[in-house]
Amino acid sequence: MRAFSIFSNYLVLFSILVGIILSGGLGYSFYQNETQAIESDFRRDVDDKAAALERELLINLEVLYAVKGLFNSSDDVNEAEFKQLASSFLVRHQNIQALEWIPRVSLEQRDKYEQQRRKFYPDFEFTEREFQGSMIRATDRKEYFPVYYVEPMEGNEVAFGFDLASNPKRDKILKKSRDLDLALATASITLVQEVSNQKGFLMFMPIYLGDPNTLIKRREQLTGFVLGVYRIGDMFETAIRYTGAQGINLKLIDNTSISAEQLYSSYATEQHQDKTQLKLIYNKPLSRFGGRQWTLVATPSLGYIAERRSLLPFISCAFGVLFVLLAGAYISAIIRRSSLIKVEVEARTQDLNEAKLELEQLSHTDSLTKIANRRKFDDKFEKEWQRAVRSKTSLSLIMIDIDNFKQFNDHYGHLAGDQCLRDVAKSLQSTMSRNTDLVARYGGEEFVILLPNTNEPALLADKCLINVEKLRIPHEPSSVSEYVTISIGVISTSPTYNSDPLALSAKVDKLLYLAKDLGKNRVCVDEPIIIPNGDVIDFKSPNK
Ligand code: GH3
Ligand code: MG
Ligand code: MG
Repeated sequence: MRAFSIFSNYLVLFSILVGIILSGGLGYSFYQNETQAIESDFRRDVDDKAAALERELLINLEVLYAVKGLFNSSDDVNEAEFKQLASSFLVRHQNIQALEWIPRVSLEQRDKYEQQRRKFYPDFEFTEREFQGSMIRATDRKEYFPVYYVEPMEGNEVAFGFDLASNPKRDKILKKSRDLDLALATASITLVQEVSNQKGFLMFMPIYLGDPNTLIKRREQLTGFVLGVYRIGDMFETAIRYTGAQGINLKLIDNTSISAEQLYSSYATEQHQDKTQLKLIYNKPLSRFGGRQWTLVATPSLGYIAERRSLLPFISCAFGVLFVLLAGAYISAIIRRSSLIKVEVEARTQDLNEAKLELEQLSHTDSLTKIANRRKFDDKFEKEWQRAVRSKTSLSLIMIDIDNFKQFNDHYGHLAGDQCLRDVAKSLQSTMSRNTDLVARYGGEEFVILLPNTNEPALLADKCLINVEKLRIPHEPSSVSEYVTISIGVISTSPTYNSDPLALSAKVDKLLYLAKDLGKNRVCVDEPIIIPNGDVIDFKSPNK
């Protein structure tokens, strides 16, 4: 019982543990699903921003095509025409720092070109950057690509007259642009004119005489380049500003060459970033633009993720655990209750069994003398009879009646009569030594003794007779003795299947009445016996 209860408790504990683990697992799986949803949201938002940036770049590139159109429509575009067109675009394209015209000038043409500009700008000359960094007059070379028209002039004075072919990197891009008839961008440059020191890039658009369709013709017919100076940061801000999602940290990387270079970052430092959130990094390459490959590197901010997280995983986990604990408590309460009920039922069953035993004993006991009653005798007689039949052994009956008991009652009263009955019963009981012998009150002042497998029942009957007289219970009105005496009938038989137990009872009854008739205070058997006072009764049973 106790072992079962301990086992049940362990089972409940184990179930609770499994339940808690499952609840945790459920919460975790909700959390994972949410993380996946946030990741795909995040990629979509970044894709949107990249598309916006690509659009912005194309719009700005269009400006160069428009200016190119001006040079294609006229062989000799003057400064006023250039400025008018360029300034009209710059008003609408705030992200362009400057638009410039860079003619191709041979060494022979140099003077003429310089003279031309000196009409308005007396100090004008073709310049280049000295090794130390200061601007000097450009040295003699076969071909020059000087900044000839600049819009706006204000803030771009340093660039005015600067020969772009003097810088080997720029010269290389110019030649490539010329050969491919393609608008090409430079790597990033720092725009010193800008307060924010933001980065920019130059974009060259080659202009030819006519429409050359071979490399040789392109090299011969090149007249110069239209140049745009673009502010990357501003372009970026304009593009991203109107895209929906907030809270995404973006970096723009130029990875055209092996050494990647950061062009722009939407956040100042990376120290504020939570390292765990940085796990989610999305690199979105933009379409190639002006011969360059840019990539948008995006990471979500804590706010971006927090906005999209719900309490569902935690609530489902907490409710799961709560449910498991409540169910566990309920089940263990039921187990405790049922084990208590079991204990109570067992106790009651034991009580009932005891009561039953007591009742059984009561129903087999004579209430006055506390020895077996008539019912007990009848039961036992039947059983012993059967046993004797089976085992072919003898069965003896001794029938006892108190002599002149009516007179005793009349003389001493009923209470004394009751006490006399108790004393006689006790004496008879103590005379029998074997526990297979049964002494019972047969009714009134009559007693019966059942003796299974007993050799000399008559001797025992004698003992009873003597022992009762030895009690010395005074009996004044008795005609037999001055004390209470008894008369006894004794019979023995070896029962068979055919013999009748009732016949045996009747016989012993007759023997008892014979003892009465012969003068009481004696034993009658179906053979002669010697009674204690020395008299010998030679008796033959009437049946015999
Ligand atoms: P005998 O010698 O022939 O047996 O005469 P007797 O008086 O003993 O026999 P009888 O049958 O005339 O009387 C039996 C009496 O036993 C009658 C009854 O009042 C008395 N008696 C029977 N049961 C009890 C009992 O439980 N208590 C008391 N006090 N007396 C009882
Ligand atoms: Mg009687
Ligand atoms: Mg009597």
